[in-house]
Amino acid sequence: MRDLRGARRRDRDFADGRILGSMCTSPLAIARRADSMFVNSNLGNPGLCEGTRDLAHRVMEMCAAMFHGDGFPGRVTSGGTEANIIALWIARNVTKRKKVVLPEHAHFSLHKAADLLGLEKIMVPVDREFRMDANAAATAARDPDVAAVVCAAGSTELGQVDPIAEIGEALASLSSPPLLHVDAAFGGFVLPFMRDLGLEVPGFDFTLGQVSSVCADPHKMGMGTVPCGSLTVRRQEWLDAITFDSPYLTKAKQGTLLGTRGSAAVAAAYAAMVSLGREGYCRLVKKCLDNTRLLADGFSAIGAEPIIQPVMNILGVRAKDTLGAVRAFDSLGWNVSTTRIPSIRFVVMPHVTRGRILELLDDAKKIRRKGLL
Ligand code: PLP
Repeated sequence: MRDLRGARRRDRDFADGRILGSMCTSPLAIARRADSMFVNSNLGNPGLCEGTRDLAHRVMEMCAAMFHGDGFPGRVTSGGTEANIIALWIARNVTKRKKVVLPEHAHFSLHKAADLLGLEKIMVPVDREFRMDANAAATAARDPDVAAVVCAAGSTELGQVDPIAEIGEALASLSSPPLLHVDAAFGGFVLPFMRDLGLEVPGFDFTLGQVSSVCADPHKMGMGTVPCGSLTVRRQEWLDAITFDSPYLTKAKQGTLLGTRGSAAVAAAYAAMVSLGREGYCRLVKKCLDNTRLLADGFSAIGAEPIIQPVMNILGVRAKDTLGAVRAFDSLGWNVSTTRIPSIRFVVMPHVTRGRILELLDDAKKIRRKGLL
């Protein structure tokens, strides 16, 4: 136990409100409790864990409804990486094609997926607002060997939403269109609630007829525990395309990438989603957006401009010396990250309070005086 306590002490804790370089956060108390109740569960063998299996169904029903895909099937995953891999796995097997169109800002899990699946990547540049260029995506998708086009709804670096409706329309005009996968690993638990708050949100979900699949992570803005993601798809037969016989288990077939899987985080996702409900998520999202605005305005006031006006609770700030500034924040006890643009990246998660934002801005002034910002 001494070793464990020592190791735990060396892990940074979100609760101190100084981590702005991660898309995870302190899970809700009820999610932690749910997690600890299900340490034994294994969705890889669902016949032994029927209770957990039903919770997984409920989580997927709630995800599908959040994305206007009521009744659409899906899979709980270990996060965005696994969901993206499964989405491209489906696309390759269903279309029998060998290429994938990715935006330049695609999360690296999509590069992993392409590598694992033997898919050739066609990279599409981003526009001035760091959105996937819709014309270039449409041109790339005309290649008859394209299995899928991927768009982001909440890009990792800047939280940007690609022009998914425009790209979907271009795909609809093709005689045999590729699948359209939306990576909303981060934005999936932000955008629906921004809409509820009356904010303008571009189309990104199943209301767009061309969208084939959407992934969203309960372990990011969903307030659950790690590891938990989700993938919702438009058609059951697409899941059948990645389903294999599992002869020695309690169910004859398995349609997921992982076999044995820790499933406590599924119970935690269920607990977080049911206890927060749409209203609870709206409150959290509003708090994060308000704090992001405060941060963006604070940086502008000292002459360090945001790369783009924040779309959601992620902010990129231009610096004179990006790495130097990140190191300076680090030495003052903050955890922040960078983007390839380059810029300093701040992810304003629910554990980051208004008070911490004001402290961070005070420190930013000191860093500015050193000529790094
Ligand atoms: N997709 C996006 C847009 C992400 O931001 C991330 C992670 O930050 C992922 C996918 C991968 O998610 P995970 O780390 O949960 O596998």
